[in-house]
Amino acid sequence: MTGTPLAVEGLRKGFADRGATVQAIDDVGFEIREGEVYTLLGPSGCGKTSTLRAVAGLERPDAGRIVIDGTVVTQNGRFVPPNRRDIGMVFQSYGIWPHMNVFDNAAFPLQVSKGKGKPPKQEIRKRVEAALAAVHLAGYEGRMATQLSGGQQQRLALARALVRRPKLLLLDEPLSNLDAKLRQAMRAELASLQQELGITTLFVTHDQDEALSMSTRIAVMQAGKIIQEGGPREVYQRPATRFVADFVGTTNFLSGTRTAARRIDTPVGAFDVASDPGTKAGDEVLLAVRPEAVRLHLSEPVGVPNVIKGEIDRVMFVGECVDCHVRVGDTVWVTRQDPGLTAASGEAVWLELPADRVSVIL
Ligand code: ATP
Repeated sequence: MTGTPLAVEGLRKGFADRGATVQAIDDVGFEIREGEVYTLLGPSGCGKTSTLRAVAGLERPDAGRIVIDGTVVTQNGRFVPPNRRDIGMVFQSYGIWPHMNVFDNAAFPLQVSKGKGKPPKQEIRKRVEAALAAVHLAGYEGRMATQLSGGQQQRLALARALVRRPKLLLLDEPLSNLDAKLRQAMRAELASLQQELGITTLFVTHDQDEALSMSTRIAVMQAGKIIQEGGPREVYQRPATRFVADFVGTTNFLSGTRTAARRIDTPVGAFDVASDPGTKAGDEVLLAVRPEAVRLHLSEPVGVPNVIKGEIDRVMFVGECVDCHVRVGDTVWVTRQDPGLTAASGEAVWLELPADRVSVIL
């Protein structure tokens, strides 16, 4: 029987901690579609790893149901052990055996499978070679694992996860041991490998850039719950809560009251918005605007709506752009501008907040 690669419903897990219970997973549910990279994103301790471990079968949840490719692997008393779940895993510490060469490391999951599950020698060789070729490590079979670079070790860990041809790949912060530059390169490499292989992937990270650039869909987690699910653009451009807006990127906030359809009154003026999450007149709301969405004018624009007057606090050159901080009353707005901007602290400026770039959070 085949089905959705992964379906998780009503998952719960509590841990005892100094007499109290920490609800690490608090009613989590999601479904991953064929070929997707589905990412659990959130700060440390929000329950990402516990959720992934429950999917892997390394953690027994208190409640909930997990179905991998149409097979129920966790439900009530039923609990299929990790080695009998159709999954491949890559963790933060790749778990590569230093005393083995590349071939033996990649072949390990097949070598240890018992009875009928263990393929004949020729088949093992074929599958290992295919997996190593897929991660661009063909020709490295005889090298000791310790002679590989960080990026190559990461790819070896991936080959080892793929050698059993799993239905589902689980990645838990697989790039976090790499230095910043290599991490960036591996991000692109891992994304294109995943696409080439078309393997359905559950990915766990606390790194918003990694999540935005690599995911088909993202689930943002906070205190054991999924609080928003959507494509990277949707989560970034339409954060559902202040927490999401704050955690995924930098955001400017402005509190206000909804007065008319798509119109919000704030202490610094009234703003038009292009969409809102179903507010009623009189609702207290929060406006969220990304730094790159703010248009900066050096003289007062005529006939343009959604403009606030401010004063430049400071301009910081960060290479491809400048971060221009603008004081409006007692708050400082963060805006991202072209590096050609020449403006000095204390200068008057006008911030335009385009209606379609303002998110309304209820
Ligand atoms: P990180 O990014 O730091 O790994 P996370 O989002 O993956 O964090 P989890 O590791 O799932 O979070 O942990 C969720 C909560 O459950 C945390 O409060 C953590 O301290 C607690 N927890 C996890 N595993 C255990 C355990 N074995 N015993 C006790 N508490 C645990």
